[in-house]
Amino acid sequence: MNTLTDTAVPQLSIQLPAWLTRMQLADHTVYTSIESRMKLAIQLASNNIVHGTGGPFGAAIFDMYNHQLIAVGVNVVVASCCSMAHAEMTAISMAQQQRGHFDLAAGDQHLELVSSCEPCAMCFGALAWSGIKHLTCAARDSDARAIGFDEGPKLHDWQQALEQRGISVQTDVCRHDAIKVLQHYASSGGAIYNAGKNQ
Ligand SMILES: [Zn+2]
Repeated sequence: MNTLTDTAVPQLSIQLPAWLTRMQLADHTVYTSIESRMKLAIQLASNNIVHGTGGPFGAAIFDMYNHQLIAVGVNVVVASCCSMAHAEMTAISMAQQQRGHFDLAAGDQHLELVSSCEPCAMCFGALAWSGIKHLTCAARDSDARAIGFDEGPKLHDWQQALEQRGISVQTDVCRHDAIKVLQHYASSGGAIYNAGKNQ
């Protein structure tokens, strides 16, 4: 993040890990099955641990018509000094930057957000403002809480709330694989970076 100086225009930027540049985002791979799309999101989460670049969460955005990859995101909260930098938020932001529009439903697009974990309270809210049409997630909120992450004050009926806004939801896809990544992060001493609880 840039700091404010007398001469610079205030600017906000979040940098994703350098290892992501080695991923081919425009390779025209068709991720036909939901499992193949989720495996990519979970692999991103796992890679983020291996490279020590952030928390154990990954997300990817796909075109629902042709199943091609649009954008990826990982959690970079600590490295970017930004509590908003969750995997879902960085993936959504990357897609919006790439499309040059804040509304990912613009132009009759139908995009799917595939996340290695259920959205927290913040990402739940961001989804409703993003234009994303479908959410698929793997680990449950309770799986993230089980290793110490604060998921925030979510609505009890969060899925229904998204559905009412025209965002369909599918849960528990490859959940066991995502839980293994979360548990690996915890057992290897990964930082649990909840705001207000760090010294
Ligand atoms: Zn989140």
